[in-house]
Amino acid sequence: MKKKQLEMMLERLEGFSKPSFIREQYSTPASVAAELLFLAAMRNDLGRVCDLGCGTGVLAIGAALMGARAVGVEIDRDALATARKNADKLGVDVDFIRADVKSLELEDIDTVVMNPPFGAQKASEGDRSFLSSAQRIAKNIYSLHNRGSLDFIKKYIYPNTVQEVYCIPFPLKRCFEFHSQDMKIIEVELYRITCSN
Ligand code: SAH
Repeated sequence: MKKKQLEMMLERLEGFSKPSFIREQYSTPASVAAELLFLAAMRNDLGRVCDLGCGTGVLAIGAALMGARAVGVEIDRDALATARKNADKLGVDVDFIRADVKSLELEDIDTVVMNPPFGAQKASEGDRSFLSSAQRIAKNIYSLHNRGSLDFIKKYIYPNTVQEVYCIPFPLKRCFEFHSQDMKIIEVELYRITCSN
């Protein structure tokens, strides 16, 4: 499959019906999801894949379309229901599990893919618990973060290591009242982390 094809398929997926501000529910745009998944495919990392905080499922479903055995973990019931519908719509098999990433135990995961809450909202714990959980369960991590996160991430994951960092344009659609423009492009960083556990 070509990257553009994957992107077009993922564009058909439904996003959050009522995005929660506190949980920082932003869907990963199809272009960003396709970028992340192609990078992982090139590195042969799409074996058994877990999408942490899968929301409406774009990364897990995309991974399954690329041939991975995918599982999506999410705390929000409504988002999970949409994720299941989305998987059916594209005819892929993904295991969706309702769980809190903090207490998640999963075995035999090769790779975690994730777009964690960035921690911009005080009530959210941000990306720390996602990074901890990802390191506990997987050998490779592909994770999206705010620009300028390198120092924090390097320190936080030590002795595991950041292998690659990519800057990716992230089209942000207006989904909360306080957003003044309909669409704004921000830049996010994609980290590839390997774990020695
Ligand atoms: N991965 C999706 C959604 C990203 S938004 C996408 O790429 O489109 C982050 C998601 O993490 C939200 O759906 C939110 O509900 C979920 N989340 C936040 N805290 C969580 C936790 N402790 N356990 C599981 N999911 C959580």
